[in-house]
Amino acid sequence: GGGGHNRSGSIGRNGTHTEDDSSTCSSGIQVIDENKEFTPYLPTYLTAQNLITAGFSYHVVAVFGSQSTGKSTLLNHLFGTQFSVMDEQARRQTTKGIWMSRAIEDTKKPDPRGMGNNILVMDVEGTDGRERGEDQDFERKSALFALATSEVLIVNIWEHQVGLYQGANMGLLKTVFEVNLGLFLKDRSTTHRSLLFFVIRDHIGHTPLQNLSNTLMQDLNRIWSSLSKPPGLEDSKINDFFDFEFVALPHKILQPEKFVEETQKLRKRFREGIAPEVEVMSGSNGVDQRGDGGGVFLPAYHRRIPADGFPHYASGVWTQIVTNKDLDLPSQQELLAQYRCDEIAATCTAGFNEIMSPFEEQAQSGKVLEGLGSAMKEALGEAMGGFEESGGRYHKGVFERKRDDLRENLEGRLRGLVVGQLSALSKRAVQEFTEEITGILKLANASGQSASSSYDFAAVVNQTRSKVVDKFIAEASESYIPGAEWSNYDNELTSLQAALDEIATRLRGEEMKRLVARLERAIRSKLAEPVELEFRRMEDNSKEKGNLWDRVWKAWTETVGEGVDGFVARAGSLNATEKERDIGAWKLRKKAWGVLKAKIEEEVMEGNILLKLRENFEDRFRYDEQGVPRVWKPTDPIEQTYTTSREATLKLIPLISHIRLSSGSEPPLTQFLGDPPADFEEDVDEMGIVKDEFEVLSEAKQVDLSTRFKRMADAVFVEAKRSTVSSVGE
Ligand code: GDP
Ligand code: MG
Repeated sequence: GGGGHNRSGSIGRNGTHTEDDSSTCSSGIQVIDENKEFTPYLPTYLTAQNLITAGFSYHVVAVFGSQSTGKSTLLNHLFGTQFSVMDEQARRQTTKGIWMSRAIEDTKKPDPRGMGNNILVMDVEGTDGRERGEDQDFERKSALFALATSEVLIVNIWEHQVGLYQGANMGLLKTVFEVNLGLFLKDRSTTHRSLLFFVIRDHIGHTPLQNLSNTLMQDLNRIWSSLSKPPGLEDSKINDFFDFEFVALPHKILQPEKFVEETQKLRKRFREGIAPEVEVMSGSNGVDQRGDGGGVFLPAYHRRIPADGFPHYASGVWTQIVTNKDLDLPSQQELLAQYRCDEIAATCTAGFNEIMSPFEEQAQSGKVLEGLGSAMKEALGEAMGGFEESGGRYHKGVFERKRDDLRENLEGRLRGLVVGQLSALSKRAVQEFTEEITGILKLANASGQSASSSYDFAAVVNQTRSKVVDKFIAEASESYIPGAEWSNYDNELTSLQAALDEIATRLRGEEMKRLVARLERAIRSKLAEPVELEFRRMEDNSKEKGNLWDRVWKAWTETVGEGVDGFVARAGSLNATEKERDIGAWKLRKKAWGVLKAKIEEEVMEGNILLKLRENFEDRFRYDEQGVPRVWKPTDPIEQTYTTSREATLKLIPLISHIRLSSGSEPPLTQFLGDPPADFEEDVDEMGIVKDEFEVLSEAKQVDLSTRFKRMADAVFVEAKRSTVSSVGE
């Protein structure tokens, strides 16, 4: 095989696939390439591996060690990965940059928690210890990256390198310790622990593992004490930051079966997951705390980066590292939290929009939105629930702030809808109330019940009022959002009730006006006949019945009294106030007076009154005391009869010209009407009793009427005279 397709370094164990194997990613993904570029495809990879939704339920492990010490081989055995392994013949470095792969499922033994395979394995390019410069720089950077992201660092080392203090591995470990101290300085609040898991390769067995690990610990402590530590950390121990584990593996080529057997045992230990959501602070005792053969991943090692934020976090960390900025993990976590919380909020808002946008469009119409309450609760509940579930794993302060922002934002939109809804509900209540009351009034008036108290306006108003108010409350309380103070409808309810009361008052006022008008008409028609009758017998004057005006006044006051009684009864059933009732009654009496005056005026209209006077005169002149028509004989005292009759009739003119009772005084109108109320409405002229209130005919009219009457009487006389002459002539 030529070197062409090897350059990618992506050859799996079967050695068959090509560079663009991104669809299966069987050999994982190159997160950082040889040009120190961070891959944009990590989210895609984690999504394809079903890891993106794992929350905290995943682990990250990285391997370190010199080049060609069997690191990739080890990882493949431990995690079922397919990192490329150096070809025995070619002996060329295969791992460039940093690769990452998800542990492949152990199908024979399914893990009940599904956690066993949620392991991200990082294969880090090693140095061969000969080349310096560039390599050293990358080594430092990748160590930082691995420390910032991984819980466990596997340190791969040949048995024969143990105790070689100056060896390449020791240089690497020094780097790891240094960068870890740097990280710790920026992140003192969280005890950032990691496990250094030493795998001693090609263990022949002469030296027991315990001895090897003792030697390594001594070397590690020496490296630690040689480090220049930052102020405050001078006395710190290596175990303050790291736990250590040591395992040895047999020679892969010489003892292949034993190698497989041991790697399988180790494989199990990496899958004995400890529930990662449980935060357990590990002690600082390192090795002894765990007990041999137990699970590897302790909660204390977990970097607490939710899986869906891992790509963003890892690339952010890497950017900081390659640009040689101080790596500050807490601020990286905050930045990550901001970024992810914004993303999550956007997703949740999109879901919210799907439910609420149709309502927001409809709201423009100002109508009541059916189903608004449940939709709001659903939309808000889902958005906030979703946000809390996904965002809650991120930096607490950022999460809480973003959650409050989101809620405020969404509530703000709901608030607009609720305000509109409440006002639409209120409008509808007002409309229904008005329609119903008006309808009832119309019906009552049409069936002629209006003047009686056969239905109780007040009761109808109260019933209808509580009906529409109850409906308003029922629907308005649908729009209540728990925890949102603004969504209560108290104010709207108060103003609705005030509006209904105002409408009831207005409708009652209108009804009372109509009632007054109706009663006025009734009085007019009731009064017509009696007044006409009294005018026909205007000269009658008896002790019991009194004169014309006594009788007219009596008829009028009786009719008006009945009308007012009817009005008062009806006003009671309208639930009118005493004042409204008094105003109405006063107006009715006042208008009734107008009715009487109009009727009188009609009676004394020129033609009418002249006719009446003529009848009166003729009754006297042409009929005798017994009511028998006279037939004049020349001997009859025709002139004298004429004069007496004429004078008697003429006496009626002053009587009808002024309304004056037989007692000689004007009728007690002022007393009858009562004092005008303080503020009656404008449909009545205010009338003080004016000076000539009781004048029916003015002086001039009286003279005019006398003249005309006399002329007419003269004509009657002349005709009577002529009839005598002609009868003599026969
Ligand atoms: P890496 O560069 O550290 O990733 O090393 P590789 O996994 O690519 O392996 C380098 C070479 O070492 C390959 O030829 C492997 O076959 C060989 N190798 C792998 N494991 C062992 C081992 O346990 N002992 C020995 N002696 N060689 C091994
Ligand atoms: Mg390798």
